[in-house]
Amino acid sequence: MESTPSPADPTDAAGIGKLELIEYPHPALLRRASPLVRIDDELCNAIDQMFEIMYDAVGVGLAANQVGLPYRLFIVNLEANPNSGEELVFINPTLSRPRGTALQEEGCLSLPGLRMDVRRPEKVVLDAWTLEGEQVRLDLDGFLARVVQHEFDHLEGRLFTDRLPDAAALEARRVLDTMLEVYVGKQSRGELPPDAHYHAELARLEAARCPPAGPARGSA
Ligand code: ZN
Repeated sequence: MESTPSPADPTDAAGIGKLELIEYPHPALLRRASPLVRIDDELCNAIDQMFEIMYDAVGVGLAANQVGLPYRLFIVNLEANPNSGEELVFINPTLSRPRGTALQEEGCLSLPGLRMDVRRPEKVVLDAWTLEGEQVRLDLDGFLARVVQHEFDHLEGRLFTDRLPDAAALEARRVLDTMLEVYVGKQSRGELPPDAHYHAELARLEAARCPPAGPARGSA
């Protein structure tokens, strides 16, 4: 977690700056991410940073909102290693045709220490854009289907703990409540900024690269 806010250059309304992995209950994790309509050098740099952060944490996937960016974008490398595996970037993804069901243990870089069995569809179709602007459709199963669904949930503001059966959900709730207490304690001591600071940052970043929220002006 950060000890002080590290805002980007305030003269640049689209600035992203240095990214950090964020943990529950940072507001970015609990908020639906917005579609990207602009991909610029700053965003490409942010994706490079995301890969570094993911490898440092030995993760296989990372969603943009896990580094405080409100964008519909996630990255994957099933090998969790910069020297092997394939680096995948999925922009504005959608999932369809869920089939079958599979139970597998999951963890999350934003919920350190918590690992639990999560039931999900075994297969799913992913439609997305690559960073090169190509549209891809992939019929996924196995571990990649698992990781993609976990990361897609992040973009919806959901965590794997939202998918647990009752008894496991209660157990997870205790861990989440402890994280919440620590977070609120840090905020009350001024070691973390208030949520309003994060919401303002998310709104600024959204305004820079996403379509305006809500119905278009002048529509019936
Ligand atoms: Zn996660």
